[in-house]
Amino acid sequence: MKQNFAIIGLGRFGGSICETLIEAGQEVLAIDKDEDRVNEYMNIATHAVVANAQDEMALRSLGLRNFDHVIIAIGEDIQASILVTLMAKEMGVPNVTAKAQNKYHAKVLYKIGADRVVHPERDMGIRIAHNLVSKNILDYLELSDEYTLAEVKVTNSKFIGKTLLELNFRQRFGLNIVAIRRGPRNLIISPSAEEMVIENDTLLVIGATEDVDRLDDKMK
Ligand code: ADP
Repeated sequence: MKQNFAIIGLGRFGGSICETLIEAGQEVLAIDKDEDRVNEYMNIATHAVVANAQDEMALRSLGLRNFDHVIIAIGEDIQASILVTLMAKEMGVPNVTAKAQNKYHAKVLYKIGADRVVHPERDMGIRIAHNLVSKNILDYLELSDEYTLAEVKVTNSKFIGKTLLELNFRQRFGLNIVAIRRGPRNLIISPSAEEMVIENDTLLVIGATEDVDRLDDKMK
């Protein structure tokens, strides 16, 4: 489904969102107060304009309220990020995603109505640290304060050759297997209880973060 997006702030974060959305066939209005940044995205974004997003008139004349999704990717200027998020919500934008610098900033963004707050540096730090500590955990995504989705590689494990029923997976580990990736092309979505785990499978598991953290030791 085609949606239209506006991105405010074309640093590394906003810029990479812009490129990825365009590659995915979406329409993107790219906004930055810095003319050089805007020039960089002139031939990438659907439209790219120089504007100070703290200027409410400028946002109105760009028709910000007509966008399905606005991404506020302002870096260091926390005050600007808060003000622009507030204005986008007040104009009635249904989906506002804002980038936070720290947890206090995130709290404020949620309070004033941001629909989604992201902490790219923190989240990437967590993902990489889990991958460094556990050789089985390939990727790790915190879904909320309590729940995590993880990709776990099965090598040298007592799981191999057993079905999910034999492993009694849900009961024993408190986790659900959402999918099993087998080889480069085969993705088994919602595997049945009869599915057998084989060497080099990647399990996509979802559950309480503490249960995900415990799985690594229990696989040996
Ligand atoms: P990153 O960590 O994603 O690289 P930066 O701080 O480098 O973040 O980038 C943030 C971008 O947001 C900069 O290009 C900056 O010009 C832009 N920006 C900051 N404040 C405003 C504003 N009020 N209006 C429009 N763009 C802004």
